[in-house]
Amino acid sequence: MKVDVLIIGAGISGAVLAERYAAIGKKVLILEKRSHIAGNCYDYIDENGILVSKYGAHLFHTNEEEVWKYVNKFSEWYDWEHKVIAKVDGKLVPIPVNITTVNKLFNENISSEEEMKDWLEKNRIDIQDPQNGKEAVLSKVGPELYEKMFRHYTKKQWDKYPEELDASVLDRIPVRTNYDDRYFSDKYQALPKGGYTKLFEKILSHPNIHIELNTDYFDVKDKIEGYSKLFYTGPIDRFFEFKYSLEDKLEYRSINFVSETVNKDFFQENSVVNYPGMEVEYTRIIEYKHFGHQQAGKTTIVKEFTVDTGEPYYPVPNQKNREIYERYKKEADQLKDIYFVGRLANYKYFNMDQAFKNALDLFKNLEGKSKRTRIARNEKKTVHRVQ
Ligand code: UDP
Repeated sequence: MKVDVLIIGAGISGAVLAERYAAIGKKVLILEKRSHIAGNCYDYIDENGILVSKYGAHLFHTNEEEVWKYVNKFSEWYDWEHKVIAKVDGKLVPIPVNITTVNKLFNENISSEEEMKDWLEKNRIDIQDPQNGKEAVLSKVGPELYEKMFRHYTKKQWDKYPEELDASVLDRIPVRTNYDDRYFSDKYQALPKGGYTKLFEKILSHPNIHIELNTDYFDVKDKIEGYSKLFYTGPIDRFFEFKYSLEDKLEYRSINFVSETVNKDFFQENSVVNYPGMEVEYTRIIEYKHFGHQQAGKTTIVKEFTVDTGEPYYPVPNQKNREIYERYKKEADQLKDIYFVGRLANYKYFNMDQAFKNALDLFKNLEGKSKRTRIARNEKKTVHRVQ
């Protein structure tokens, strides 16, 4: 088979690039190490008849019109405003912190934005330009909420305390001065009807795209030739055989998902309940049946234990890892026609919409609009002649 573009990994970045190149007439080969497409978005119907995600809940949210338009080409989406509840001091409270959170945890009686702002002003610590995750949280909500909701959760999630992580990690969670209990505030918040795997099947369903599952690129790379571009979406250090990681390894966090069937209609009142305390080892329990209000006789719950061995899911954003990453990146930048795309190859904690956007932007940068139209026109001609 003649291959123009070789893509390693069938997650968001790989699928988008494959679709874009296929659309301009290029022959694309995707090599995927796992036995399925869709990367960490992969979902399936489990033994209880419930659509569950193999690698944790994926909530799509974006303010990017272009990304929203793009994903709508491949699936219908239903509105889903995600909410998270945290179990703190035996009480279930909203996260992000809002008026209800403070009232419940501190027996306050706040009822207006003004009062909530006053409460935060009294409790927060004035830190200009927070330098790490701890300072980021203290400057927003102060030490008491830091201790109750962020310190131990972060230790469980990252095996690091917030002061050992970039401020950006904890800045993902806003603070609300009203009753808004949505996890995100983006314009578009939705889930694909039928699930993410179906969405990916659609993105990848082009005759120019060929996918080899259960195929590790590093086992076969010497046998594939003739392609003019390579897009690599795996961990960057693996690509370079971990050469800069001999003493200080580039760190990743993985998750051990422990699934249980509960013989009840529902186990908990919300799709996600976080456990920010030390009383349990898991960070959260996901009950998938809530997503899209699914019907089933039983329910499936999944406890998430974050661990440092296993498949890499999260890069660990801090100074030390950034320095190691930069050494790999320098090397990566020197390679011609090889591109590093996505969360693992860029060692960045991207949200799903950013991953879509980065892949779309990369394609545009490489192929440009005028070039694209020209190629499409030529391809059309070729197809015509063959017929
Ligand atoms: N976090 C926390 N307590 C919570 C939820 C989040 O301390 O109840 C911190 C934690 O460090 C986490 C980060 O905020 O890693 C980002 O949370 P997010 O929910 O965005 O993480 P993800 O869903 O991507 O795992």
